[in-house]
Amino acid sequence: MPPHVLIVEDEKDLATVLSYGFRQAGFDVVTAASGELALKATREERFDLVLLDLMLPGVSGTEVCRRLKQAPETSHVPVIIVTARGEEIDRVVGFELGADDYVVKPFSVRELVLRARAVLRRVEGGATAGDALRFGTLRVDRGAHRAWVDDAEVAMTALEMKLLMLLFDRRGRVLSRDQLLDDVWGEHVDVTTRNVDTHVKRVRDKLGSAGPYIETVRGVGYRFRATPDES
Ligand code: CA
Repeated sequence: MPPHVLIVEDEKDLATVLSYGFRQAGFDVVTAASGELALKATREERFDLVLLDLMLPGVSGTEVCRRLKQAPETSHVPVIIVTARGEEIDRVVGFELGADDYVVKPFSVRELVLRARAVLRRVEGGATAGDALRFGTLRVDRGAHRAWVDDAEVAMTALEMKLLMLLFDRRGRVLSRDQLLDDVWGEHVDVTTRNVDTHVKRVRDKLGSAGPYIETVRGVGYRFRATPDES
């Protein structure tokens, strides 16, 4: 199955160039020329990736990203933000919104295709289909990138899920911020250990009653409890 990508771009010429380039690279492409149309498309179809321009008429790219990352049905879909230099948002804000990568115009289509493939690899690397687990009040279906706490679904981004699974798989052990940075973000130049703290905090907040399973080890990093009842 070719990866199904949604390209959200209101500049017609750029949308044409991008969809041509991605089709040539073996992607299955759908385009949306506004934020409203992008949200409509994601309600109707399941995408593997969203390329999102920020400056859009009507609903902004920022808002589209926020809504995609808040809905359990779409929170796991990776988003690459595409923006012109000097637009109101900086990289850190992009990542705070839950975006998985960030590309500044002008860029080559080739570069964007490479970034898209890298993001897809990163997301797929963390999952094996049908791999479900249960730990105290937490339940996770890794293959589907879905999580539940006390049987209520939690909207998690692909990155947050990867972070959670890394901590979970090495439960009982302390992982340093640098280790998490390497394992979750890899070679990404724009991410610092501060982003690790922000993401861990967000995952913990989202997990509610399961949040305390992730413990802070002062001055070192984080540790997922060995057993749910450990205190
Ligand atoms: Ca635009």
